[in-house]
Formats: sequence, structure tokens, C-alpha cells
Amino acid sequence: MPSSEPSPTFRILAIGECMAELAPAEAPGEYRLGFAGDTFNTAWYIARLWPETSVSYFTAIGTDAISQQMRDVFSASGIDHGHVRVVPDRTVGLYLISLANGERSFSYWRGQSAARQLAADPDALAKAIGDAELVYFSGITLAILDPASRKTLLTALGTARAMGKVIAFDPNLRPRLWSDQTEMTDAVMQGAAVSDIALPSFEDEASWFGDADPVATADRYRSAGVTTVVVKNGAEPVHYRQGAARGFVPVPALPSVVDTTAAGDSFNAAILAGIGGNTPLPESIARACRLAGQVVQGRGALVPVDPARIDP
Ligand code: ADP
Repeated sequence: MPSSEPSPTFRILAIGECMAELAPAEAPGEYRLGFAGDTFNTAWYIARLWPETSVSYFTAIGTDAISQQMRDVFSASGIDHGHVRVVPDRTVGLYLISLANGERSFSYWRGQSAARQLAADPDALAKAIGDAELVYFSGITLAILDPASRKTLLTALGTARAMGKVIAFDPNLRPRLWSDQTEMTDAVMQGAAVSDIALPSFEDEASWFGDADPVATADRYRSAGVTTVVVKNGAEPVHYRQGAARGFVPVPALPSVVDTTAAGDSFNAAILAGIGGNTPLPESIARACRLAGQVVQGRGALVPVDPARIDP
């Protein structure tokens, strides 16, 4: 007799900052409101493409209308927001995209965002983490926190890892968010030290750590204690390490690249969902490339992709 038990759900928690986005609309001077942010984008792709995986987002928002709108977007996207912190005297961060001769540039208002307080209540953080099997965060998550809050988060993640939860980290190096380069590289390696999985992008790692090639990037993260490393490298093959296994997975060539926003974020979604599904890593990487390949052919961070072309 078929069992009526629902199949167990893999539970992922993403921690970070989602921002309001103003992107140029068709008419000059008009803007469209959206919501995006690296860890949120990853959560969005997981919720959209792997409904058998439950994904929750941990951040902090305010009590104003736009904070509520952001929460509504979490709901509508299938992302659990039961653990989201509310900081009454703050609101969400904002960025505006400007277009000049086809080139995008970004202006940010995020210095006082509610998300900067996400780790201010260690109990709320521990509760959110306690409900998850895999916890995902990024270098941007670390960058928006003050040193004390950063320590709170890293300690909570270290504890979670010791309890057997899987910790996944995208270093997402953004020097503009840090007071200096050393603070950034130190914090990123501290992030790696509490993680099982690192998902770096070679171009950034080469710029800020001086890695000669993706193998050097993987070596550095392995030395920090990470067991699985996946090194993205634009159109170049993806390098991976997993225990003693290592290899390169080719990236399918694309007819065009429209906008690389969220290429890495969507890629990560496929890798994290694959952990829940016990998918062999090279297979997950190939799937991640097919997903990111669709994302770079659309505009913006949240591209409505075709699931049939991710798992052909
Ligand atoms: P990030 O967005 O983190 O900088 P990458 O630029 O390395 O990450 O891209 C992540 C993934 O997106 C790549 O591994 C690849 O699968 C896909 N991708 C990015 N740029 C291209 C491209 N020009 N052609 C084909 N795939 C690409």
C-alpha cells in the first residue's frame, strides 16, 4: 500500500539582506519597484525551482509599508519568513539602477538598514538556525554587520555546524561594503572557517586574495576547513573539490549574455538544492550552469526561468 506519509522536506535557511530595488522602467525618469539581494535571490530560485525543499529567509525589516511589501514578496515567492526580525525604528535598504549607454550603475541607501540588526538578538538567530538542516550566508551578510554582530553570527554558525547542520557560504567579495581590504579578507576567511561548503567566484578571489587559478582558490578554502568547494568562473569551467574528489565541469556556451546579475546566486541555488536531494556534485554543478545560463540571458536578478531546460 502506498504510504500517505509526506516525504521528508529538506530545510534551508538563508541569512542576509534583501533590498528594495528601483530599476528603470520603459518611460524615461520612471522606475519599477522590486526586491533583490544575493542571499534572497538564492532563496527565490530554490523556492521557485525546488518546491520539495523548504526555504526560509532570515533578515530584519521595519514596520513600515515597504517592509510589509517585502514580507508579502517573501510569501508570494514561497519563502518562509516566520523568523524575520522586526526592528521598529528602521526600514529596508534601497538601491537604484541607472542606465547610461546600456551600462548599469548602482546607487545604494543601505547604511542604516534594518538588516544590519539581523544578529542583534542571538536567541532569535539561534531559533531560526535551529529549524534548518542547511544554513546559507555570504560575505555580504558579514559585511553589513558590525564586528560584535558578526561575531554573534559566526559563533551561532559554528555551533550549528558542531551540531551537524550543513553550513554553506558564498564569499561574495564586495570591497565597497568594508572599511578596508584586510577587514574583508579576514572576515571572509572567518566565514569559511565555520563552513562546510564554499561557493566562491574566481574573478573576485583572484582580485582580492591574489589566487593564481581556481585550484589555488579551492586550496585556500580547503585549508580553512571547508570540505566542499565549488569555484565559479564565468564562462570558464567550474572547479570543484569534495573530500578527495576533484574535477572541472564545463560551462555550456551561450548565444548571448544580456545581464550577469544573480548568475552566481542562481548557481548557488542549484548546488544547495542538490545537497538536499543527495545529487552527485558534478551533476548539481552541471544543473547550476544550466540555470545560471538562463539567468544571464534575462534582465535583473529574478529571471522567470524554464525548469524543463534545467533538468532536460
Ligand atoms: P558571479 O555572478 O558570482 O560572479 P560567475 O560570473 O562566475 O559568478 O558566474 C556564475 C555562473 O554563471 C557560471 O559558473 C556560469 O555557469 C554562468 N555564467 C556566467 N557568465 C557566463 C557566460 N558568459 N557564459 C555562460 N555562462 C555564464
